[in-house]
Amino acid sequence: MTTKFYNRLLAIIIVLFSFQLFSFNSFASNLDGMSREKMQVFIGEMPKAELHIHLEGTMSPETVAKLANRNKFNFFKTADEVRQSLSSRVPGLTGFLSHHNKQITVLQTEKDFLTTVYDFMEKCKENNIVYVEMFFDPQAHTSRGIDFDSMMKGILAGREAGQKAFGVKLNLIISINRERSVDSAVEMMSNAKPYKKYLLGLGIDSGPEEGNPPSKFKDVYAQAKKDGYFLTIHNDVDEKNSTGHIREAMDILKVDRLDHSLNAAEDIDLVAEIRRRDLCLTASPVQRGSDPEPQDIPRIRFLFQHGVCISLHSDDPGEFDSGYLTNLMLNFQQAGKFSKRDMVRLMLHAFKAAWLPDEEKKAYINSLKKWAAANYVNI
Ligand SMILES: [Zn+2]
Repeated sequence: MTTKFYNRLLAIIIVLFSFQLFSFNSFASNLDGMSREKMQVFIGEMPKAELHIHLEGTMSPETVAKLANRNKFNFFKTADEVRQSLSSRVPGLTGFLSHHNKQITVLQTEKDFLTTVYDFMEKCKENNIVYVEMFFDPQAHTSRGIDFDSMMKGILAGREAGQKAFGVKLNLIISINRERSVDSAVEMMSNAKPYKKYLLGLGIDSGPEEGNPPSKFKDVYAQAKKDGYFLTIHNDVDEKNSTGHIREAMDILKVDRLDHSLNAAEDIDLVAEIRRRDLCLTASPVQRGSDPEPQDIPRIRFLFQHGVCISLHSDDPGEFDSGYLTNLMLNFQQAGKFSKRDMVRLMLHAFKAAWLPDEEKKAYINSLKKWAAANYVNI
């Protein structure tokens, strides 16, 4: 009797232990034994949030060619010409910016901004992205003589039309180009004042980061906080003093979120501090044609395994081979052999990081959890 009892107890423990392994071992389960095609369906159908995306980088080659022709430019007349320019870039930030800065010149009129936002929201629908927080960089346009109000009106009209047509919700993050002067940032924020009710947050992007540390914009951020903006900042990967910049962003700018910031993985005290403050990181493991795999998988894995609220985003999907969110997540999953549960948890982090009222956030999270349960994923 006693032996039988212990045998049964042992069997139960083995079953429970196996279940634990299956459910909670992060990497045990590419495992899920799924083909790339099935994983693509799984990730494709997952309800998603996109929190690190730039309006200027969302333009597909087709959209760029459409606007170039509309404005009678003598370059980028076809999507193939845009693709050719993308594939012949030199690696690194310089190559990226040389194409990017040429590409944004096709944005000229209110209607061009409308088209860009609308076309991106159509991509959201295709990718099952239900919620977006999108950066846009006014200084990159006003410095070319584009009128701030025309730009804003176009963006807002595109958003309204996109929400109506595709049922996607999109909030806006106005973003400072870090290489420009503080005065220019102050002027941008002054132009933005009449539109405050349409602007959820403030960010900093572009480069170079060296010589333009977060603290440069201390006063702009202090005022923005008072004005009710949520705050975030790009801390690009492997910059000089990257961890110092992350600390400045947290301690001096008092940000609510961090973009990239993956060098935190090199400083375990910083990881602990990020967790203590409950800050989320928006990572973007993009991939160029010449890259062997998506960028930064080891650091993202490390931060994820150490309990940091880190999520995956597509940054400039029109300008990277990783493309829009479903494809980016699929490439990341395949290269890093992440499980289905990992992928859902990474998306859970994105909804957790969203700057939404609690009730709304809870509704998105519940719907993700419900979807996961229906797909036999226990999160
Ligand atoms: Zn970015």
